[in-house]
Amino acid sequence: MALKLADLKTEVHNDWCPGCGDFGILSAVQMALADMNLNREDSVIVSGIGCSAKLVHYTNVTGIHTLHGRPLPFATGVKLSNPHLNVVAVGGDGDGMSIGAGHFVNAGRRNVDMLYIIHDNGVYGLTKGQASPTLKLGVKTKSLVFPNITSNINPLILAMASGYTFVARGYSFNVQHLKKLIRMGIEHRGAAFIDALQPCPTYNDINSKEWYNGEDRAEENQGKALPRVYNLESEGYDGTVNTEAGRDSESVILDAMRKSVEWGDRIPIGVFYRNEEIPTYEERMLERMPEYMQNPPGKQKISDAKKKPVADITPFMDELSV
Ligand code: SF4
Ligand code: MG
Repeated sequence: MALKLADLKTEVHNDWCPGCGDFGILSAVQMALADMNLNREDSVIVSGIGCSAKLVHYTNVTGIHTLHGRPLPFATGVKLSNPHLNVVAVGGDGDGMSIGAGHFVNAGRRNVDMLYIIHDNGVYGLTKGQASPTLKLGVKTKSLVFPNITSNINPLILAMASGYTFVARGYSFNVQHLKKLIRMGIEHRGAAFIDALQPCPTYNDINSKEWYNGEDRAEENQGKALPRVYNLESEGYDGTVNTEAGRDSESVILDAMRKSVEWGDRIPIGVFYRNEEIPTYEERMLERMPEYMQNPPGKQKISDAKKKPVADITPFMDELSV
């Protein structure tokens, strides 16, 4: 059944705090799925643990709420057992950049065809606002006793270094732009990553919506807000690799890394890096294991008309016997 926006909303009570940027990400995900006219049965969202992880409960497609830091291995398993599915993984910056960092790196280098979105608010929101790996050194949010004592990870640089072939940053209160990025990420052939800047009004009073929108700088700008967030495309930036045209991946990545460290007065959003010249994991598997890819586990019959299991696991059990 093709998805319509109204059908994607669930009756589950939403307990995100008022004004949370998670609402914008939820809307952007649902709008992107509806725009793409996907079938409900072909769309899967996998989440980790955290405020962000509740997105699967609020979106009416198959959803899996997994463990802390583990959305990517689950999502990889879903995709490789049923490669025709559209798989989106979501998680927080604490979830993906700390306990899940090893999975983040290795999902990138596999280049499995799926999208991962991080809700990036600089704090562990669900557990009362401790500093997360994306909070900058020296920043003191309202739930910290002292300024942050550790340096931050730049998720975009880590993504490019790890091998993701689509790397973008969105802003949760620019829903139309984020929707466009999510659609591009799903349509991209390979591992796509979006760092979605997400104000947490309850625990992060520094990187707030007002701060991203530059409302604190109105005095310098004749009373008008001077937004920090700007769109890379508006400045003619193009992060697409095209080796034949002389834009090889190394030079594009270097440009993208330089852009990705811009922070403070100006914060770029958009597609930093996109490379469809690298084969996906599924394409490499098709060469090496064609029988598997033509009849993956997710397509196999597991029961007869009477729901009696038809899978014969005897050979597998024999292999395990000692
Ligand atoms: Fe959103 Fe922060 Fe509240 Fe979590 S704690 S729901 S991230 S505002
Ligand atoms: Mg967080």
